[in-house]
Amino acid sequence: MRKHITCTVCPLSCDVVLELGKDGEILSLTGNKCKRGEVYASKEHTAPERTLTSIVRVKGGVLPVLPVRTSRPIPKDKLKEGMLEVAKVNTQAPITMGDVIVEDFLHLGVDLVATRDLETAN
Ligand code: SF4
Repeated sequence: MRKHITCTVCPLSCDVVLELGKDGEILSLTGNKCKRGEVYASKEHTAPERTLTSIVRVKGGVLPVLPVRTSRPIPKDKLKEGMLEVAKVNTQAPITMGDVIVEDFLHLGVDLVATRDLETAN
């Protein structure tokens, strides 16, 4: 079986082609122009990860919501659970960009952090 993965590490967007065995194991990997593409495509095939980005509710701020993201990518299959968890969060202004809004998010060893400052409403 053949699988195509577009490498997103740099703007060249190489089309990396994986030849897979019957159990999904990688038999060969071609199309990448550098080693980073091999690492990316292997990981994307075996254990894909994504940075979760969303918004959470804020009390007392100049805006009612705050943009957040995970401090590192999390397993792709945890994104739905993560979004449901984010929907329960209610934080308090003022907030500084980089503040930890949820520590050890989903017990994955990553934090949910603010991606902007948010002042209190006057
Ligand atoms: S394989 Fe290398 S050159 Fe190609 S997109 Fe990935 S990082 Fe860029």
